[in-house]
Amino acid sequence: MENTGSLGNTSQGRRNLLDTHTHTVLSTHAYSTLWENAKAASSLGVQVIVSTEHAPEMPGGAHIYGISNQSTCPRVQEGVIILRGVEANIMPAKRGVPIDIPDTVNERLDVVVASLHDAVYPQSDPAVITQTLMDVIRSGRVDIIGHLGNPHYSCDYFQVMEVAKANNVLVEINNSSLVRSRLGSKPNCGLIATIAAQLDMHVVLSSDAHHASQVGIVDEALALALGAGIHEDKIYNYDPLGFVQFLVEKRNRKGLGDVVELLSNL
Ligand SMILES: [Zn+2]
Ligand SMILES: [Zn+2]
Repeated sequence: MENTGSLGNTSQGRRNLLDTHTHTVLSTHAYSTLWENAKAASSLGVQVIVSTEHAPEMPGGAHIYGISNQSTCPRVQEGVIILRGVEANIMPAKRGVPIDIPDTVNERLDVVVASLHDAVYPQSDPAVITQTLMDVIRSGRVDIIGHLGNPHYSCDYFQVMEVAKANNVLVEINNSSLVRSRLGSKPNCGLIATIAAQLDMHVVLSSDAHHASQVGIVDEALALALGAGIHEDKIYNYDPLGFVQFLVEKRNRKGLGDVVELLSNL
């Protein structure tokens, strides 16, 4: 296995060890390289980041070749494990596909985040959004629903999250939605976190970094999650190995054996 550095000694205390949603210059409205993101994560003691470029339907999104060629990059950079992911676009029903990533590419990735984006999916009635999200979750093609709290896409959060739990799909709490993007998300994110606590679901907290300085920073999302009553043991950011085992065992993601080994030996 390619490796550009050891994972180093990190404390197993209650500090963020995982970031499931980050972008690089390959998403053309982000501003740092993968290496710079890894360096930033390393400086914070984050053990695992998922690189999740915008998929092709997003204006300026990464080319599908860039998304599918990530195994070219070392698995460990600057002592940080890199998972190969994507932020797919949830597609309008009339397009006939749940997301804009073909199965042949999807199967080679470690993590697929799927999100509703203004440039791709029109604002719609909550019943339509609820149905779309349930269809995407049930498609089996996505591991995490991204920034569900976007006020442009209100839906029946309880129904969506019940279906997510039943289908082993995670919901993220997106730190960027609370500090710089999709303003107005906070009440919905609070509701989503409360439902996650009620349903005893695991969650992931993500930075949605578009610059290295944001990688690994999930403070607002963490405060919101804990305030809503989500138990620390249900936050995968404290347990990257648990997150990767979830991907292997519940999402049937192949090719993560090296990551399980790396994390098991920390
Ligand atoms: Zn997004
Ligand atoms: Zn994003």
